[in-house]
Amino acid sequence: METSTASFRAVLACALLGAVPAALTTATGAGPSAAQMAEWNAPQAPFKLYGNTYYVGTKGITSILVTSEYGHTLLDAGIPEAATQIARNIETLGFKPADVKAILNTHAHWDHAGGLATLQQLTGAPLYLRRASEEVLRTGKLTRSDPQYGLKAPAIPPVKTIWIVSDEQLLGIGSNRFQAFATPGHTPGGTTWSWDACEKDKCLRMVYADSLSPVSADSFKFSANKDYPQVLQDFELSFTRLETMACDVLITPHPEQSQLFERANKADKGCKAYAQAARAKLAERLATEKR
Ligand SMILES: [Zn+2]
Repeated sequence: METSTASFRAVLACALLGAVPAALTTATGAGPSAAQMAEWNAPQAPFKLYGNTYYVGTKGITSILVTSEYGHTLLDAGIPEAATQIARNIETLGFKPADVKAILNTHAHWDHAGGLATLQQLTGAPLYLRRASEEVLRTGKLTRSDPQYGLKAPAIPPVKTIWIVSDEQLLGIGSNRFQAFATPGHTPGGTTWSWDACEKDKCLRMVYADSLSPVSADSFKFSANKDYPQVLQDFELSFTRLETMACDVLITPHPEQSQLFERANKADKGCKAYAQAARAKLAERLATEKR
């Protein structure tokens, strides 16, 4: 499908260029380094992706604003320190944080959910996620079924108002309609979100695909795990889903996972390639577990 648009290309050309950050999450017990924290919270000017969909995250972690006359939606919130920057980016685009009527989350890890509590206070919006993420965000602590349970990471400030969505549920917010897709594996509650963004008479299917990487604490084995016994089936479900879903524009929780700042809008095969690369990474990881 031909998906190029002048506005998307122009915006991306103006967006931050430069070296792609090194792998931002590692399976060490040391927690994020100061350099990594700085990268994740480095400022990034907000920009339009397509139609009513804008990038409002930091340089290192994605946050997306989808606007409508009857209320906006925010997807993900970066690390705790990023929340005020995200709110400022929304204002820079000419929108009001108070007009955000819903916050959606991909997965309940500190680097994408850390700013949720503050953004909930700033917007008054409820948070929507799947059941398997709820306990983590109510308590701020990872559960044993999370592959990264036991890894050192800063605490997630707990979130108060949470609504649960189920797989394939449609969510109407303002005049936009989002669909939740279960894409577990990286976490049990991992969720991919999809919606249409339009310019004039051309609409594109936007897909904010959740992380699919097999990053874990050293003790977590994907090949046999009593705390998350179906992890491999879950990953396979997620890969197949991403490979087959309608997807014109791929967005990812870490912008470099989809070269979000660098690429022109030619992502009609983006979701498929993203899932295939993730499947290869999991196979690599399983091979090391057998050695
Ligand atoms: Zn994660």
